[in-house]
Amino acid sequence: MMFENTLAFARKLDAEDPLKNYREQFYIPQQNGKEVIYFCGNSLGLQPKSVRKLVEEELEKWQNLAVEGHFTGDNPWFTYHKQFKEPVARLVGALPHEVIVMNNLTTNLHLMLVSFYQPSGKRIKIITEKGAFPSDQYALESQVRYHGHNPDEVIIELAPREGECTLRTEDIISTIEQHSQELALVMMGGLNYYTGQVFDMQAITDAGHKAGAYVGFDLAHAAGNIMLDLHAWQVDFAVWCTYKYLNSSPGGVAGAFIHEKHAANTQLPRFAGWWGHREEERFQMKKGFIPIYGADGWQLANAPILLMAAHKAALAIFDEVGMEAVSRKSKKLTGYLEYMLKSNPVMEKRIQIITPENPAERGSQLSLLVKEGGKQLFEAISAAGVIADWREPNAIRVAPAPLYNSFEEVFRFHEILSGHLR
Ligand SMILES: *Cc1c(COP(=O)(O)O)cnc(C)c1O
Repeated sequence: MMFENTLAFARKLDAEDPLKNYREQFYIPQQNGKEVIYFCGNSLGLQPKSVRKLVEEELEKWQNLAVEGHFTGDNPWFTYHKQFKEPVARLVGALPHEVIVMNNLTTNLHLMLVSFYQPSGKRIKIITEKGAFPSDQYALESQVRYHGHNPDEVIIELAPREGECTLRTEDIISTIEQHSQELALVMMGGLNYYTGQVFDMQAITDAGHKAGAYVGFDLAHAAGNIMLDLHAWQVDFAVWCTYKYLNSSPGGVAGAFIHEKHAANTQLPRFAGWWGHREEERFQMKKGFIPIYGADGWQLANAPILLMAAHKAALAIFDEVGMEAVSRKSKKLTGYLEYMLKSNPVMEKRIQIITPENPAERGSQLSLLVKEGGKQLFEAISAAGVIADWREPNAIRVAPAPLYNSFEEVFRFHEILSGHLR
C-alpha cells in the first residue's frame, strides 16, 4: 500500500472506505465543543447509539412484566444468552456451542483455570508472558497457591531477548519444549496489551499440546480486533471482555470459549452454579450437578440482562460488518498511522514504535515509547483533543478503531503529535 502524507490523501482514503458510514452509529465524545480524536477503543470502546434502545426495552419489560419477563416477551431472560451463540462464534472462529457470554473477564479466567490447570505429580508448571496484564498475573498466582504450590517455582515467564521488545515465536516454542516434562498449562494473551504484539496462537497451541499441556488465551485485546480461529487452532479455552474493541459498555459481560473436545468431559473439575446445570431440570432444584453440554455448562448464574442488552446492540454491528472487513480496515488504518509516524524524521529521534511491523503480528494498536518527556507529550496531545492511553514509565498506546475512526483522524493525530515534538 502506497500512502501519502497529505490531508487530501487521508480524505481520499476515507471516501473510499467501505466502513466510513459506521462512525455515525457511535457517540463520539467532545472536548470544547469539538469531537475528540478517540484512539482509546482498546481500553473502552465507544457507545453505539443503538445500545440505549435495547437497554430501555429490557427496563420496560422489567417495569411491565417483572418476573414474567423470564419466560415471556421477544427475548425471554431465561434464554437471553442463547442469542449470542451464532454471532460470537463467528467473531472468534468457534462452533456455537463452544462459546458463552457470562460474568466478567477475570471471573471467567478463574473458572477456566479451575478446569484446565490441574497440577499433578511433576506436571505443575505454567508458561505465561512476563508483564502480562496484572489481573492475569494475579489469577495465575492465586490459582497456583490454591493448589499448594509456590508461584515463583511454578510460573515460567516468557521474556523478550535482550534489546528486543516483543517475543519471538521460536523462543516461545523452545521454552515449551524445554519444560515439556513438567508443563501443565500454557496461558497467555493472544495480543499483548502493552506492545500490541499478536502471538502465533496456532503454533503455541500445537507446541503446548505436543508437550502434554492444556493451552488457553486471554483475548481481551484480540476479540473484535483481529481474526481468530479458535476451533481450528484446537485451543482448549479462551476468555475475553467486551468493553474494549467490542464496545459493549464499561465492565460489561465477558465471553468464554471451551473447545468442543471438552464439551462433554465431566471429569474436568469445575466450579458450578445452577445456570450451568441441565436446563430441563434447572427449576426442579434437585441435588447433583449435571452440566449442560458445551460452554453453557460453565455458567454460574442467571444473566445480567441490562449488560447483555448493551452487548447485543454492539455485537449486531460486528456481525453486520464481519471480522474480515474490520480486519482489512484495521490493517490499512494502523498501516497509515505507522507510515505517518515513520515519514517524519523528528519522530525517529524521539519515539520508538515497539509494536511489530508485520501487519499479521498486530491489530489496531501502535505502542509508542517516548524517549524523553513522555508524560508531558501525552498531556499536551490530550489537551489538544487526543484521547490515547498512557502507561508508565514512557509509553503512549494509540488504537484507531476501524468501526469509528477515520484516516483523517490519523492525519490530524500525527499533525498534533509532531507539533509537540519539535
Ligand atoms: C482489560 C484486561 C483485563 C481486565 O479484566 P476485567 O476482569 O475485565 O476487569 C484483564 N486481562 C487483560 C489481558 C486485559 O487486557
